[in-house]
Amino acid sequence: MKVGYVYDPIYLKHDTGEHVESSKRLEAIISILEQTKLKQQLTPIKPRTATVEELSMVHDKHYIAHIQDAAQRGGGWLDADTVMSPDSYQAAIYAAGGLIKATEAVMDGEVDSAFGLVRPPGHHATSQRAMGFCLFNNVAIAAKYAMAKYELDRVLIIDFDVHHGNGTQAAFYDNPQVLYASTHQYPFYPGTGDIDETGTGAAKGTTINIPFPGGYGDAEYLSVFEQIIVPAARRFNPHLILVSAGYDTHWADPLAMMQLSVTGFAQIARIIKGLAEELCSGRLVFTLEGGYNLIALAASVKATFDVLLGSANIDDPLGPSPHRFTTPSIAPLIKAIKEIHNLA
Ligand SMILES: [Zn+2]
Repeated sequence: MKVGYVYDPIYLKHDTGEHVESSKRLEAIISILEQTKLKQQLTPIKPRTATVEELSMVHDKHYIAHIQDAAQRGGGWLDADTVMSPDSYQAAIYAAGGLIKATEAVMDGEVDSAFGLVRPPGHHATSQRAMGFCLFNNVAIAAKYAMAKYELDRVLIIDFDVHHGNGTQAAFYDNPQVLYASTHQYPFYPGTGDIDETGTGAAKGTTINIPFPGGYGDAEYLSVFEQIIVPAARRFNPHLILVSAGYDTHWADPLAMMQLSVTGFAQIARIIKGLAEELCSGRLVFTLEGGYNLIALAASVKATFDVLLGSANIDDPLGPSPHRFTTPSIAPLIKAIKEIHNLA
């Protein structure tokens, strides 16, 4: 398997100071890929900048100009969570362009699959607003780009970040060509993502929200992937699968309460890879969203690469969650979502 990755030091220049979403995240990932020599097995994909025209497939032109202007003025806080430095606009257009390049490499058959190791992350960014550490919605831009350039009728976006990808949902809420399926802690930041948010008009049913109470772990995630996401993906029959890969779902993550392990992330990656092989000639692009425990993040991204490369050996240095939560059975939630989405 030929697996590509996008990375460039420009992503470190989005300087967020002491913020949890810092350049240390990508440094930890690159470091583990180098130490384990996994990097030598991967194909580097050189990013480029996304053009204003490409960004404007998802974002309002005034908003794009506002972000560029904010960077030129030295950066600062855009909201209570999201901060910019002078180089953040450049990093952000390289992040969006990097994911475009990863998608092109997969679509053109240069690699079998790819992973965008980019920042700032993207799935909270809406047409007109930076939110939740995100400036431009990388995955939504890549989806729109792929649909336009390769005339794709259907793209599946799977989002397993612990937070709901409100920006991605909004970008495709009325677009039946994109199936957006998200697992997330709920109620939680950013507040959206209830089961009855399913899309509008002709796109009704092409948004699938799977809101979890804090405390769910590998077993619940696997149940939901097997019983909801896999059958929904088969019915939708995409030409390309994009993944908003957020590793803040790990049990050791400081921001949230889900209990996934590195092994669980590998199992999820294996299911998604299987779907891509079954439905769309393996065409699969991951992009980095959250993940704030550096050890868990690096090990989980490495495990994802191992799965993409076809390796059976997963190294889980942190093991299963040591926490014991009293959580409700997942069965009623799965039943309710199956009913809403007419999944047998
Ligand atoms: Zn997140």
